Amino acid sequence: MNNTKQSIYASVDGLSEKIIAINDFIHDHPELGNNEFQAVELLTRTLAEHHFQVERGIVSLPTAFKATFTNKESGPIIGLLCEYDALEGLGHGCGHNLQASSIVGAAIALSQNLGDLPATVVVYGTPAEETTSGKLPMIKAGVFDDLDVALMMHGGDRTTVDGKSLAMNLIDFIFEGKAAHAAVAPEKGISALDGVLMTFNAIEYLREHVRPDVKIHGVITNGGTVANIVPDHAVAQFYVRAADRPYLDTVLERVYNAARGAALSTGSKLTIKEIKRCENKVNVEKLNQVLLKNAAEAGIQEISPPRTSTGSTDFANVTYIIPGACLRVAFVPFGTASHSTEWVEAGTSEAGHRAVISAAKAIAGSAYELIAVPDLLQEIKEEFRQAKQSYVMN
Ligand SMILES: [Zn+2]
Ligand SMILES: [Zn+2]
Repeated sequence: MNNTKQSIYASVDGLSEKIIAINDFIHDHPELGNNEFQAVELLTRTLAEHHFQVERGIVSLPTAFKATFTNKESGPIIGLLCEYDALEGLGHGCGHNLQASSIVGAAIALSQNLGDLPATVVVYGTPAEETTSGKLPMIKAGVFDDLDVALMMHGGDRTTVDGKSLAMNLIDFIFEGKAAHAAVAPEKGISALDGVLMTFNAIEYLREHVRPDVKIHGVITNGGTVANIVPDHAVAQFYVRAADRPYLDTVLERVYNAARGAALSTGSKLTIKEIKRCENKVNVEKLNQVLLKNAAEAGIQEISPPRTSTGSTDFANVTYIIPGACLRVAFVPFGTASHSTEWVEAGTSEAGHRAVISAAKAIAGSAYELIAVPDLLQEIKEEFRQAKQSYVMN
């Protein structure tokens, strides 16, 4: 391992008290999406103290930020993304405290060890991952467009990277009917609930005739109020997922048609509302390898192969425009589910603190390699281009 990496690790060790204090503060002051003001204040103040130029509230998101350190113009621009929102009623059950603290630690340690290398390091604070997804308006505004590569960290039950993630749309099907007394004048009513139920039934039949990677799961979020009134308003919410965006789009049209058919047959009026949309991750094997190799060099003992069974993430939307990868670092025992009290409790444990420090080293080491070895970055960009192409042509 080269000397610069050793001094990056030494910088992380020197910052470790600060990094752990940030981790514990964010953990102990959980804030919901778009309200992470205390976390943002602490993270941006720390970055500013270490010579990063900070812009808060970018893209009209009050708790989004961008912090830039330019070592020397004209080099690669490395994006380090972090999340810091908590879960309602639970706290930091997704471990975003680990993520924010280790990314800020990695960015500072990296900035202190770039020597003469031309490079820019940009930390992006991306709010509300668990709810409205700050990354989506940030992508729309083009804030990631000039990056060469984007890296992220997430806590986990094993140290690994995601080999894939599913493309996903979250949709509300809103049916409007006509209220009437359900016993005295049912013939005068149009049941919005019938529209919802027929949508579920039609989707059950559809299930048989889609690829096995498709996942469709729904709930009724409004099924009417009382049983003796024909419901004039009913809503079903569905997640529809598939391994890649082009195929998902074809399935979505069929799911929409199921709902349209339900509206036609019941005489109700249908509104289809898209709540959230994630792309599939564009997987860049070489970038995954850089992260895993650097995790090992940073002293993480047990490393698992890339995860194959995953849900969906808004980080995938970033990997749809530029090469990106997320390092997952173990801090809970294998098999411990996220969004749980176990994750909350482990957030400030010794294992949590260890994960934060080794993640900071692994991310900073990876970013350094991408800056110091231009061929590596070129190979990654080429693999990204081909991987993206293969989804488009599917
Ligand atoms: Zn989560
Ligand atoms: Zn998370």
